[in-house]
Amino acid sequence: MPAHEKTLWSTPATEVLRAGPHTKVAKIDPRATPGFDGDKADGERLLEERGAVLSALQEKLYANGRSGDERSVLLILQGMDTAGKGGMVRHVIGHVDPQGVDHAAFGVPTPEEKRHHYLWRINKALPRGGQLGVFDRSHYEDVLVARVHDLVPSEVWSGRYEEINQFERELVYSGTTLVKVAMFVSLDEQKRRLAERLDRPDKFWKYNPGDVTERALWPQYQQAYQAMLDKTSTDHAPWYVVPCDRKWYSRIAVTELLIDALTRLDLDWPPADFDIEVEKERLARS
Ligand code: AMP
Ligand code: MG
Repeated sequence: MPAHEKTLWSTPATEVLRAGPHTKVAKIDPRATPGFDGDKADGERLLEERGAVLSALQEKLYANGRSGDERSVLLILQGMDTAGKGGMVRHVIGHVDPQGVDHAAFGVPTPEEKRHHYLWRINKALPRGGQLGVFDRSHYEDVLVARVHDLVPSEVWSGRYEEINQFERELVYSGTTLVKVAMFVSLDEQKRRLAERLDRPDKFWKYNPGDVTERALWPQYQQAYQAMLDKTSTDHAPWYVVPCDRKWYSRIAVTELLIDALTRLDLDWPPADFDIEVEKERLARS
């Protein structure tokens, strides 16, 4: 661990951000930088340094996958619009070799997806062995937007929490480490980011008039996020609560969560499946 990284994180991200029984969404300060003592410049420098560590670990995961290891890591990003999910993918996942990344974004279900169980499209997008999967939104939309907008009756969405826990338990047992990140942006910062989307031609494409409509439902979303954390932060797949008003902080935090998940796999380089000496001789003679 580089010396300055040790001193800048007073408490590891995995500890300070982990959701627990006392996590209250209403009390989250999205501008805070829990566990981190540095400033933006420190954070940006650290992102490059730790991004390289992440990349090296991911390469090992990929190498093992090529040798038949079934294990994978899946980063799940959930957050309100403008929380910075896309930027997280570009700036954190952007450090790793794209061929080792299985990325999926989940929007409003297509007519075909609507005809299936909500986990159908999720199952199809799960990372293969050796891959780093990234979900930009996920099955949690089906207990968030679906709950807030009564897209299904309450008897239906209320049964989904336990169904999701069971689904994730099986995923974890079959070798997928889940890194679930709940991204929290403040109502004010969201307003600022939406305003920017209206001011800048390079951001018009991100603007969706529906996002302003959703702002009126902020308390209902807060409630739905609270229920999600209360009911689906399990030992096998805990939630991490990441304040996102400062993008530099959320990015270094998620980088650390991924580094931790990959480190816990305790990966080594896969051994050669050929005779090294024989191959050296063959190469020399060729
Ligand atoms: P974006 O991430 O900005 O492309 O927006 C995707 C939109 O799809 C968001 O408004 C989500 O709430 C919505 N969405 C994602 N999953 C579902 C779902 N299962 N049911 C309804 N809406 C969804
Ligand atoms: Mg959007």
